[in-house]
Amino acid sequence: MTVNELIKKVFFVEILKGLALTLKHLFSPAVTRQYPTEKREPFPGSRGLHALVRDPETGREKCVGCGLCAAMCPSRCIHIYTSEGDDHKKVVDRYEVDVLRCVFCALCVEACPYGALVLTPHYEYSGYTREEFYYTKDRLLENWDKYMAGPRGAEYLEKFWRPKSSDFGVRVESHMEEGAKS
Ligand code: SF4
Ligand code: SF4
Repeated sequence: MTVNELIKKVFFVEILKGLALTLKHLFSPAVTRQYPTEKREPFPGSRGLHALVRDPETGREKCVGCGLCAAMCPSRCIHIYTSEGDDHKKVVDRYEVDVLRCVFCALCVEACPYGALVLTPHYEYSGYTREEFYYTKDRLLENWDKYMAGPRGAEYLEKFWRPKSSDFGVRVESHMEEGAKS
C-alpha cells in the first residue's frame, strides 16, 4: 500500500467525497417526475399498445391477412385466421394479439408490407385478467381510432414505417446506375 492510499484510508477521503456529493445534490431541484400526476408526452414512435390501421376509404382494416407479421414475431403472439371471400380475396376473420407475451420489438410493424399494423404511443393500460390483454381485431381497430387516427397516424406511417416503395425506388435506381457504369 502506498502512502497516498494509506492517508486516504485513515482520513476516510472517499467517504467524505461521497458525502460532499450527496450534500451538493441535497438542495438542487428534484428530477423525479411525480407520476401519475406529472406526465411527459411519449416520444413519437415509442412502442406502446398495438393497433390495426383503419383504411379511410373502406372503414375496414388495411390488413390483408398475409401473415408476415405473425411469421416475424419472436414471441408468437399474433394469431391470424383468414377465409376466402366472394371475389376469391382473403378475408381476415380474426386478427388477435396476446399483448402479455409481446416484447414490443416492432418487428411485426417492420415486416408488414401494407403499413397495416402500428405500435401506438399509448402505454398506460392495466387489467385484472389475461383476457383484457388479448386484443381482437375490433379492439385493435378501436386502438387506431383512439390513439392514431388523423395526423398522428399519418405522421407515424411517414416517419416510422419502413421500408417504403420509395426506399426500393432509390435502391433500384442506384443499382441500375452501378450496372451501367460497369
Ligand atoms: S412487437 Fe414484437 S413481440 Fe410484439 S407482436 Fe410485434 S413482433 Fe411480436
Ligand atoms: S403483415 Fe400486415 S397485412 Fe400481413 S397479416 Fe400482418 S398486419 Fe396484415
